[in-house]
Amino acid sequence: MASNTETILVHEGQHFNSTAAVTAPIFQTSTYIADSDPAEYIKAATEPKHPYFYHRHGNPTNSQVAAVVAKLEKTEDALVFATGMAAISTAILAIVKSGDHIVAQLAHYSGTAIFFKEFLTDYGISVTAVDQTDTAAFAHAIQENTKLIYIETPSNPNLNITDLKAVGELAKQHDILSMVDNTFASPINQTPRDFGIDIVVHSATKYLGGHSDLTAGIVCGSQDYIAKVWKRSVALGASLAPLDSWLLLRGLKTLSLRVKQINSNALELASFLDRHPKIKNVSYPGLSSHPQHELAAHQMRGFSGMICIEVDGTDEEQAFKNAQALINNLEIFINAASLGGVESLIVHPASMWGGHHTQAQKKASGITLGMLRISVGIENIADLIEDLEQALRKLD
Ligand SMILES: *Cc1c(COP(=O)(O)O)cnc(C)c1O
Repeated sequence: MASNTETILVHEGQHFNSTAAVTAPIFQTSTYIADSDPAEYIKAATEPKHPYFYHRHGNPTNSQVAAVVAKLEKTEDALVFATGMAAISTAILAIVKSGDHIVAQLAHYSGTAIFFKEFLTDYGISVTAVDQTDTAAFAHAIQENTKLIYIETPSNPNLNITDLKAVGELAKQHDILSMVDNTFASPINQTPRDFGIDIVVHSATKYLGGHSDLTAGIVCGSQDYIAKVWKRSVALGASLAPLDSWLLLRGLKTLSLRVKQINSNALELASFLDRHPKIKNVSYPGLSSHPQHELAAHQMRGFSGMICIEVDGTDEEQAFKNAQALINNLEIFINAASLGGVESLIVHPASMWGGHHTQAQKKASGITLGMLRISVGIENIADLIEDLEQALRKLD
């Protein structure tokens, strides 16, 4: 089978479709007829990800999707989940137990931050959060009971970069595992395995699905590790539903086309915003003004569609009002959470996470009142720039 990305996206995992249909059917069934040979049936019941036993154990489309993403992420195997958080939490619970320690970042996706702070600590697992831009801080945080370094790059929402190679090497030195949330980059722009990271997780709800019509998650790693994750998933139960799996497989076929268009749109839009007098700051790893642009350029092939901007204002309160007004003035950009779809979205992180994060937590993860996060879609770039231009013109 070919090993080029665009071909993998269209053809990988085809052998999991046992029918003559060119497009894999939706296996909308909870259970499968048992093999008449009892030995075969026992095998079906116990083998990780067996596609024809019971849905929580496996499904042919789930296997096909996993094969596509594992190939892209250059891992031996992968397992799909009902959401990104199901993938992340199950992936971590397959590694740590009570008494263990994790080194993570100050800035993480809000659900992950909550899982670390409010869930794991209740089960006797401690987490040290470090500044992701400070490579030495990861080394300093390692303890005797550390089992995992968990990173996210570019991170949510301020698009800081973690040095993948440095973390990969550090984990190897200490004989512990490294795991990265690769959601923001997508496998088109970043392959963490190339830099020695062991495990890759995604919210497939975002770029992988790409049409804002499903939730899904995926864990990619070695075959032995995925077998452990599968065992945990059978107990925790967040398996991806057949229709969502089919939609994800369909979305993946155009991942490369979509992400290329998004990379190009985002770079143009970020440059436009960077020049605009009413924008105080633009954070986009593809701009040379990004403090870690060089590192980003070293470990990413493209810079993805996430842009973080700070609207100007005489003080924080005014910046907050301007940010809200800008959102309301926009006609094409949709004010909604989530990212990675074909449509451009914009959100105000300080409001979105207001209920979950304390002021101190928001400050630690770098969230300010005038900050807006943009997920650039595949629309015509001239229309996107024009929309922002007219919305900014209306601000005082
Ligand atoms: C959305 C997101 C998640 C969680 O994924 P869900 O599919 O919403 O559960 C995790 N990490 C990142 C970076 C995300 O953007």
